[in-house]
Amino acid sequence: MFVKRLPRFEYFEPSSVREALEVLRAHRGQCSLIAGGTDLLVSMKKRERVPAHLVNLKGIDELKGIHYDDNKGLRIGSLATLVEIADERVVEEACPMLKDAAEVMAAPQIRSLGTIGGNLCSASPSADTAPPLIASGASVRIIGPQGERELPVEEFFRGPGESVLEDTEILSHIFIPAPPGNSGTAYLKLMRRGAMDLAIVGVAVYLERGGETDLCKRACIALGAVAPTPMRALRAEEVLRDKKIDKALTREAGRIASEESRPIDDVRASEAYRRSMVEVLTQRAIMKALDRIGTKAS
Ligand SMILES: Cc1cc2nc3c(=O)[nH]c(=O)nc-3n(C[C@H](O)[C@H](O)[C@H](O)COP(=O)(O)OP(=O)(O)OC[C@H]3O[C@@H](n4cnc5c(N)ncnc54)[C@H](O)[C@@H]3O)c2cc1C
Repeated sequence: MFVKRLPRFEYFEPSSVREALEVLRAHRGQCSLIAGGTDLLVSMKKRERVPAHLVNLKGIDELKGIHYDDNKGLRIGSLATLVEIADERVVEEACPMLKDAAEVMAAPQIRSLGTIGGNLCSASPSADTAPPLIASGASVRIIGPQGERELPVEEFFRGPGESVLEDTEILSHIFIPAPPGNSGTAYLKLMRRGAMDLAIVGVAVYLERGGETDLCKRACIALGAVAPTPMRALRAEEVLRDKKIDKALTREAGRIASEESRPIDDVRASEAYRRSMVEVLTQRAIMKALDRIGTKAS
């Protein structure tokens, strides 16, 4: 049953990460962090989560902003909204597939509230920002009572709704390496409607060409909504490596990515449909990423 009223809770509005960590420590296991609230408030209204204390992160300036450095790449604060990700020029230049993803998420109202940190921390298998971040080799910084730790986004997810985050930790930033000039990326999402829907399948592709040659030096393919967590299609990547990418090779990579995926039947699609869509979307995303290398070079 959908209960419209929020349950009662005590509300905190810290202005620094240190203050937020102190609240988490003092009320260990009884707090929920809130950023945009577009996932959390829905689950609280449904009584799936009933935290005694709500800790609003939105007043913490150190978790905001998107910065680019030629050497270090992109640094995205966990509070960056999906609108900021979609509109920020440095994101389009350094990680076009992340912009692709933000643009097809939810609706403008949700995108202006929802954050990239909230999208990752909800740990939904269909989280749209996860495949592009995994394919680009991004990492996350997590701050807790013991200090900071960094790990690849690929290692962040544990299962549906579960991540490596402890209940006393905060995801502070996301780091995306600076892309070499001879690289191209793309994210494609299949959903039932043109907007406001979760992914049936999401595919992100990163391709890097080897110097003067036309050979593919590095390929990274990440899939969403087809396994308990966002996943790499490692065997499909291997098919592309050190080869000239043409239609036949692209078809082969799509077929193998589909074999590697582990989808389930649910209300949005059957397992068989998802598998065949992984094949199609992987081929299309490879071609789009390849095209984008061409655009950069010219
Ligand atoms: C109508 C609708 C459509 C949607 N469409 C899509 C879609 O197309 N694709 C998609 O991927 N998602 C979609 N979503 C889900 C949601 O909007 C996104 O996941 C959004 O990015 C969540 O961000 P948020 O800031 O609102 O998270 P919140 O709801 O504030 O938080 C989500 C979870 O993350 C935790 N959290 C938040 N920030 C941090 C942090 N910095 N450190 C530690 N924990 C943190 C919270 O405690 C909570 O558990 C949709 C939601 C709705 C309601």
